[in-house]
Amino acid sequence: MPTSPKVAMGKVVTIHYTLSNSAGEVLDTSQGGEPFEYLHGGGNIVPGLESKLEGQAIGAHLAVVVEPADGYGVHDPKGVRHVTRGAFPPDVELQVGMQFRAENSEGEATPIWVTEVSGDDVTIDFNHPLAGETLHFDVTITEIRDASREEMEHGHPHGEGHHHHDH
Ligand code: ZN
Repeated sequence: MPTSPKVAMGKVVTIHYTLSNSAGEVLDTSQGGEPFEYLHGGGNIVPGLESKLEGQAIGAHLAVVVEPADGYGVHDPKGVRHVTRGAFPPDVELQVGMQFRAENSEGEATPIWVTEVSGDDVTIDFNHPLAGETLHFDVTITEIRDASREEMEHGHPHGEGHHHHDH
């Protein structure tokens, strides 16, 4: 009898999930849509969830609470900056929630989010929008398979619906 696969490094794991905040508001869910695939050990999902899925089998249903430090980080007030409208491409209609890439002080490309637009004053935040949130995941594992060599090299799955990319 074959042993049932377990979630481990190098497995592509398919899950259905619902993510809620501490107030019980649903922030994101795969229910009613396509399930989500990730490469275990690839850092595709927040560390606090990845570690709890380790060793689980198909059909496992878990409620996982992830503290900010193991989720999207604690919110660092120093990450909030004010810039002028001219710092952005002129043809973009700036909206709250938009994500851009900026160079940090070490010259590395890092994501920023627009959190407020007031005339010429734009507030940006280097913190992830979910920084500081305690994350409540409701997860069901629907599939576990071995990652291909290419997926291991890229560090993410190439399943159905994964758009083509050239790296
Ligand atoms: Zn890839």
